[in-house]
Amino acid sequence: MTPAADRRWVHAALAELAREAARSADTHLLRVDLPGFPGIRFYFKDEAAHPTGSLKHRLARSLFLYALCNGRLGEGQGAIDASSGSTAISEAWFARLLGLRFVAVMPDCTAPGKVRLIRALGADCVLVPRGTDASAVARERARREGLCFLDQFGLAERATDWRGNNNIAESILAQMAAETDPVPAWIVCGAGTGGTSATVGRYLRYRRLDTRVCVAEPTGGAFATGWRSRDPQGLASQPTLIEGIGRPRVEPGFLFDVVDRVEEVDDADSIAAAWRLESLIGRRYGGSSGTNFVACLRLARALRDEGRRGSIVSLLCDRGDRYEETLFDPAWLSDQGIELAAGRATVAALESA
Ligand SMILES: *Cc1c(COP(=O)(O)O)cnc(C)c1O
Repeated sequence: MTPAADRRWVHAALAELAREAARSADTHLLRVDLPGFPGIRFYFKDEAAHPTGSLKHRLARSLFLYALCNGRLGEGQGAIDASSGSTAISEAWFARLLGLRFVAVMPDCTAPGKVRLIRALGADCVLVPRGTDASAVARERARREGLCFLDQFGLAERATDWRGNNNIAESILAQMAAETDPVPAWIVCGAGTGGTSATVGRYLRYRRLDTRVCVAEPTGGAFATGWRSRDPQGLASQPTLIEGIGRPRVEPGFLFDVVDRVEEVDDADSIAAAWRLESLIGRRYGGSSGTNFVACLRLARALRDEGRRGSIVSLLCDRGDRYEETLFDPAWLSDQGIELAAGRATVAALESA
């Protein structure tokens, strides 16, 4: 293909992404009031409402834009990435929009609902044993087959425009503008690629706001270990059932310096909190939303104990229907040694007055 023809294709692809953005609405910021916390309001940014069901919709759009604008993705080339599933779903969706082949490299323990969705979008799934470096597998296949390696873990914090462009932080703060406490005391998010916490932390500084950032992390996850000692070689001390967060090692997008606090949450508590969110909001969300909710409750208790009021904002990261056969199946949970009842008791105690 001639360079000029290739450039024409890139322009057409960028126009297609711009049209997709124009057709999309922003996600809701849902307010939840809990009787145990008078004067403290909780807000949840419903990232499950994106067309591809998770906050990775934003990231996938940014990664394709970044690859196209860096001249790394051309007509008919195809793309590949490593993912715990949510990113692959969004990338497969955007690849289909652009008429490109997509290959997802995922751990073989990924929720079957996600694998089905990715295949239904016409993409190929390569399942590697849990513990394998999926990014290395994807990078190698990209090299061998001439695919564009979208590299979510390597590029997440760079591909997103942290100063604005309706990034998630700008969107949240605009939606908060007319609330009683428009500047949140805390914004709570998870860390998978680290892209969300990096964008939120940078944007808050850029806007000169006092809001602090809390990363909600599965107990023993690499972000927690790394953050304590600012160690880029940090490793997780235990695995987690919560998909999307709780990485086995520190990822390149983990910016420790913009994170004010890390709350570690046991899987049973995260899962019980995800179940609780369903009864509070009326819809199911995934495990990492539960992890966020537990961290929100702990921060709210601390605010309350100090006699303070204010707002706490967090994210509903993905749709819960993806976990019907896992986190929302009591038999599966007991096979994994998760005591849901104990988790529920913990969450109820955190919510209590
Ligand atoms: C990716 C992901 C996260 C974490 O977001 P990052 O911006 O990648 O750090 C949280 N929850 C789910 C379900 C995810 O897929």
